[in-house]
Amino acid sequence: MGKLLKDKNILIMGVANKWSIAWGIAKKFIKEEANLIFTYLGDKSRLHLEKFLMEEGIDNPKLIECDVSKDEDIENAFKELRKEIDVLHGVVHSIAFANKDELQGFYYNTSREGYLVAQDISSYSLVAISRNAQPLMTEGGSIVTLSYLGAERAITNYNVMGVAKAALEASVRYLAVDLGINNVTVNSISAGPVKTTSAKGIRDFTKLLRGFEDVAPLKRLVTTEEIANTALFLCSDLGTGVTGENIHVDCGYHIVG
Ligand code: NAD
Repeated sequence: MGKLLKDKNILIMGVANKWSIAWGIAKKFIKEEANLIFTYLGDKSRLHLEKFLMEEGIDNPKLIECDVSKDEDIENAFKELRKEIDVLHGVVHSIAFANKDELQGFYYNTSREGYLVAQDISSYSLVAISRNAQPLMTEGGSIVTLSYLGAERAITNYNVMGVAKAALEASVRYLAVDLGINNVTVNSISAGPVKTTSAKGIRDFTKLLRGFEDVAPLKRLVTTEEIANTALFLCSDLGTGVTGENIHVDCGYHIVG
């Protein structure tokens, strides 16, 4: 089989460091010869990302600034993207944020501001990004976002982020309907827990990891590579018939109990 993403231009949003799920996906996509463009958040993270990508052997990485909490940033990012490419084939949206103090204790203590921040960055951003991406996706394509089981079940301490993920998964279905006519698929991957910078913000995250291994049918944690494999399937020609779906890549954890 030839390289699965040859000649495909894909926007990767959400690489913060080597632990990021987005980086696991990017590595896999590079092996399949995708042409990647990365977004970053703020000047400090640009320097960090540039250095990190060079260390990983990516010379002259294409980097575009995008704070997804700002409409003008998203619009500018896609203007910049147009200067780099004529056609976009894929977007990996691997972005979420909630204030740390909202990721513990009683959900009913969620502040109005904290609720809106989580929804804005973790869920609404996919809507705005899809709207801006669509005009560039003239050959069809795939939009993939990352979700978690906390969207479907009340997971201790996940709280406001679970509610944002529920909105994200609902958005996936609505966006799949809107963009289907343009042959663009929209899906979420509900990943099992992975030790990343964001995940460490959830109180007792290591406890959650331990419990996971005991319960999951495969008796282990999911790897970032396994999550990336599913992203690859969705962004390649193998996944063209799948849209509006939420695919669990969690060693089967969600089926138990
Ligand atoms: P991460 O911290 O590596 O990635 C989160 C990214 O979101 C970072 O790159 C950060 O810069 C970006 N971000 C935050 N606010 C932003 C903003 N305003 N504008 C632009 N970017 C912004 O952590 P991760 O675990 O790789 O998270 C990636 C995605 O995977 C998230 O949606 C997360 O909820 C999801 N996910 C993670 C797990 C897990 O256990 N780690 C499980 C399921 C789903």
